[in-house]
Amino acid sequence: MPPSDWAAIIRHHLSQKSRITALTGAGISAESGIPTFRGSEGYWTVGSRAYHPQEMATRAMFHRRPEDVWQWYLHRATVCHRATPNPGHKAIAAMENLFGDRFTLITQNVDGLHQRAGSQAHQTYPIHGNIFQVRCAAACRPELEPLPMDLVGRAKERSLTAAERALLTCRHCGEWLRPHVLWFDETYNETYFRFHSSLAAAAQTGLLLIVGTSGATNLPNQVAWTVLQNGGTIIDINPTPNPFSELALRTPGGAFIPQPSGHFLPELLLVMQQGLTAPSHP
Ligand SMILES: [Zn+2]
Repeated sequence: MPPSDWAAIIRHHLSQKSRITALTGAGISAESGIPTFRGSEGYWTVGSRAYHPQEMATRAMFHRRPEDVWQWYLHRATVCHRATPNPGHKAIAAMENLFGDRFTLITQNVDGLHQRAGSQAHQTYPIHGNIFQVRCAAACRPELEPLPMDLVGRAKERSLTAAERALLTCRHCGEWLRPHVLWFDETYNETYFRFHSSLAAAAQTGLLLIVGTSGATNLPNQVAWTVLQNGGTIIDINPTPNPFSELALRTPGGAFIPQPSGHFLPELLLVMQQGLTAPSHP
């Protein structure tokens, strides 16, 4: 599709004052060097056995081997902490500035890069949690707390020390703290993962930008279908075709942009900025 076509769609939505939602996944953070969680980089060795991420990232595994699961998450938090937001993350934060409360970010990424790029908590729905937050594993109270940064940057293979275990213990009840992430054997909820808020935002969305995700999980699919059923436009930005690119082409003015988000989103932002400042024509 020539660039002028998607730019015209963007200008149409600007003139309509449409609500805009961005739905992001692992692809945008892969451009910052964070390995895809579901890929081979996600494997973790405990003793002589290599565990698949879908075995490690479970409540069942945490119950059996909390220290191993924590070592894995602290390694992942270290990788995320060393990464930096890329032009795609920054463009999304700039869109939030541009559109104010007409803009919502729904992200599957737990790496905190959107937040570090400037996306604000009240307009960001982290539907799979945030690796830099913890909560009591026994749920003695619901509050989230920051992951103590003394635990980040440690050597990958080292066992937890007594001091590290103490930092990972709930000071109210003495049970383990756990990473604030949605595990594969858990379900979405509103309190922690903004499940209903995400669907409510989708129902009002005129323009949905899907960035770097292929729709492998349930809530992102529901968000995309809700936008489609309400007559909204979907633009899918992903280097490779995926189920969302087909869905996008079924929406009015929808487009599939097979480019890295770090290239395309700044270009899209520029069109939005120009569209908002250009004099309107009758
Ligand atoms: Zn507790």
